Formats: sequence, structure tokens, C-alpha cells
Amino acid sequence: MLSDLDQIERTALQALESIQDEASLESWRVAHLGRSAPLMLVFDQLGKLSKEERPVIGRRANAVKNALEAAFSDRSESLRQSALQRSLQSERLDVTLPGRALPIGHLHPATISVRTIVRAFADMGFQVYRSPEAETDDYNFGLLNMPPHHPARDMYDTFYTSMPNVSLRPHTSPGQIHVMRQYAPEPIRATLPGVCYRYEQINARHETQFNQIEVLAVGKNITLGDLKGTLSDLARRLFGQEIHIRFRASYFPFTEPSAEYDFECLICNGKGCAVCAWTGWLEIGGCGMVHPIVLQNGGYDPEKFSGFAAGLGTERIMMLKHRIEDIRYFWANDMRFLEQF
Ligand SMILES: [Zn+2]
Repeated sequence: MLSDLDQIERTALQALESIQDEASLESWRVAHLGRSAPLMLVFDQLGKLSKEERPVIGRRANAVKNALEAAFSDRSESLRQSALQRSLQSERLDVTLPGRALPIGHLHPATISVRTIVRAFADMGFQVYRSPEAETDDYNFGLLNMPPHHPARDMYDTFYTSMPNVSLRPHTSPGQIHVMRQYAPEPIRATLPGVCYRYEQINARHETQFNQIEVLAVGKNITLGDLKGTLSDLARRLFGQEIHIRFRASYFPFTEPSAEYDFECLICNGKGCAVCAWTGWLEIGGCGMVHPIVLQNGGYDPEKFSGFAAGLGTERIMMLKHRIEDIRYFWANDMRFLEQF
């Protein structure tokens, strides 16, 4: 019987060596350690043995059982390890691959333009002053030398609100009165950026909302030369040293004298092209010396103080810089447009 046990052990261990997968390992367990395995039959027969034989055979049978169980768990562990290795190899994660980039937003092109221009003025000592987008009739027009029934009011297609006497600002000029009243009689150098609203027929050149930047300087001995120098410097800061600027006489109720100013066409360098309608110049905005009545309304004595003001449309600057043909792109929320900046 001892030799039977040796044989059982040998056969089982040999069979175990050739096993390569979990399923055959399980069959092996059933065959060699299961209820009807040869080893178990030996245990069943122990009761029939003599008193002398029983402990000897019993010990040996237990030793074989332990050996087979240990061999089984070794094999099971090594199969598990090799399965793990295989899956590590085949499902290998390449951590050096670039990740999926999260979409990161950026500033709106209109905001970029406002900030670029505000920064250029800031370098010349102009501070930013914020004023309201809804104003009383006085601030929008009256205090800017446009009393009721003044024909110049027709130039502004104003949005009136359901509140009597309150309208959306059609230009940033009402901010002039706010900043002057806050700082008079101190000298002022300020930019007043912000959105303006007009009841426009929307087309490639006109929108019902647009950003404007108002520039205001008030002090003693400020002249038209300062205005021209400041705007020329702005043009150079935005578009380079070579650019020229010109003034054309114009009319605004809140400045005297008044002018429109043009930058030399950036696209043809003044030679004439379709964008500048073959003139070589691009209209940028209006400007002039602050009207004495406006200075007075702001709290300054026009005998002692003078000042200049200028306005410019920031989308317009962006359109010139990037040759954007239609202002409606700015507010259409089309990512194909916005992502380009
Ligand atoms: Zn041109």
C-alpha cells in the first residue's frame, strides 16, 4: 500500500507539470484531490487495515495529500502570475502618450481689442474709468451740449427704455461728464471703454452693440497738438512706427474744433486698395477739443482749463488688423471665428 501511495504521488505530480491553464488545473484537482481520487480511496480503506499498518499508511497518505495540495497551490499561483504578465504585456498602457487636452477658453476678440488699446493708452498715463451703460437723457445728450431738439441727436439711433428719461448709451461720451465731475478741478487722463447700443440696421459695418473707447484729457494748456501727438502715438503703438495719421475737419456738439481721424491703410500702406476704397486711409474715429460748455458741465472753468477727447470703435480696429470683413462675426458666437484669436 505504501508503494501505491508513492505511485499516486508521482502520477499526480507528473500530470500537474504539463498543466498550462486554469481549466485543466481544476480538472487535475478533481482527479487527484477530489472525492473519488485514488488518494481518497486509500483514506476510505484505512478503517479496514490492521492496527499496526493503519498509522504508517495514514501518515504517508496525509503526507501525500499535503504534498499534492502544496503543489496545487504553487501551480495555481504560478498560473495566476503568468496570466497577469500576459495581460500586462498585451494591455500595456503607454503613459508617454499625450493626454486628451481639455478645451481652454480665451478672451473674446472684442475684449482683446479693448485691452490692447487700453494698455497702449495706459503706457501714456491714461487710467481706465468705468461708467454706466444706461444713462439719463442729461448724461447721454444734454450735458454734452445737445439740449432737447438739438439736431445732432438725430445722429444717434438711441434705444430708449420703459423708464422715462433713461436710455442705453449710444456712445461712451457720457462717461466724460462722470469722470470730470468726480475729479474736478484735478487734471484728468482717462480712457472710458465699454459697450454702446444703437438701433441700427444690422449689416457688415453696423451692429446694435459695439465697444467704444473714449479718451479724455483735461488740464491746463492742453492743445490740439497734444491730441494729435497722442493719437499718432496710439497708431504707432498699435500698428508700428511707419504708420501715418491724418485729421479731417468735422462736427460734434461736444468738441470744438472737431475732427475725424484716419490711419494710413494697413493693407496697402497708403497706396490704395479695395479695403480703403482706393483712398489709402481708414476711418478710425472722431476727436476734438472739449467744448467749453462740456468743460463747465464737468465742473471745470473753461477760462483756465482745456482738454481733448477722442473716440474709437474697438471692433473696427480689430477688423482692420485682421482684415475681418463683417462686424456681425463678433456677436454671432461662432466658434470657428472666435477660436482664431
Ligand atoms: Zn488700402
